Amino acid sequence: MANKYTLNIAHLYGDLMNTYGDLGNILVLKYYGKKMGIDVQSNVVSLDEGFKADDYDIAVFGGGQDFEQTIVSKDIQTKKDEIKKFIESDGCLLAICGGFQLLGKYYIDANGDKIPGIGVLDHYTEQQHDNRFIGNILIKNEETGEQYHGFENHQGVTYTGKGERPLGDVEKGYGNNGQDKAEGAIYKNVYCTYFHGPILARNNIIAKHILIKALKRRYPNDDFSRLEQMDVEKSY
Ligand code: GLN
Repeated sequence: MANKYTLNIAHLYGDLMNTYGDLGNILVLKYYGKKMGIDVQSNVVSLDEGFKADDYDIAVFGGGQDFEQTIVSKDIQTKKDEIKKFIESDGCLLAICGGFQLLGKYYIDANGDKIPGIGVLDHYTEQQHDNRFIGNILIKNEETGEQYHGFENHQGVTYTGKGERPLGDVEKGYGNNGQDKAEGAIYKNVYCTYFHGPILARNNIIAKHILIKALKRRYPNDDFSRLEQMDVEKSY
């Protein structure tokens, strides 16, 4: 029998921004989609390709090295308005590390060069001097009480801004900047994080949250309470 639901994922710059297997996040969304009776489709939207907000339910934007970020920074300015429209109309977006940085105002890279973001979220990212935050990290989300496990590896230090709340408070590791205990950012249905691993494979519950939010947005007249009860595997 055909699946009742379909969700479309835009893998933003999936050919350039995919450090530490961030692509795995899409595989996890497809895996749980199958269990939930959703046909989850994905395609890469990269340089010189249009992103149309109305075509997608979920966007995934992975991490990347400074070099790739410089290239993507230029191209993504052309997609800024549609990405903003997607976010403001409650589209679900998962942004990892370099992707997280480029949704904000700017990122100062390891050489001290300023790489412009698109400023659709209010955070900004400064430089560390001869240092990276590398290692396992554990955080706790204040609203749900859920703990999330991950691996961080970043030079940039991010400070969240207006309308953003952290994905979690740091219990072990560094987080956004090693100072304010915040890790990542949540704004509307946007989840930003420094977690690789990939985050959804190690924290399946976030995959479930994203799929259910996307379903509710795409099929507002349907009842998803049965899916909300569905257990996910613990895998960190
Ligand atoms: N190049 C960025 C930094 O070092 C992002 C790294 C990443 O995406 N893993 O902060």
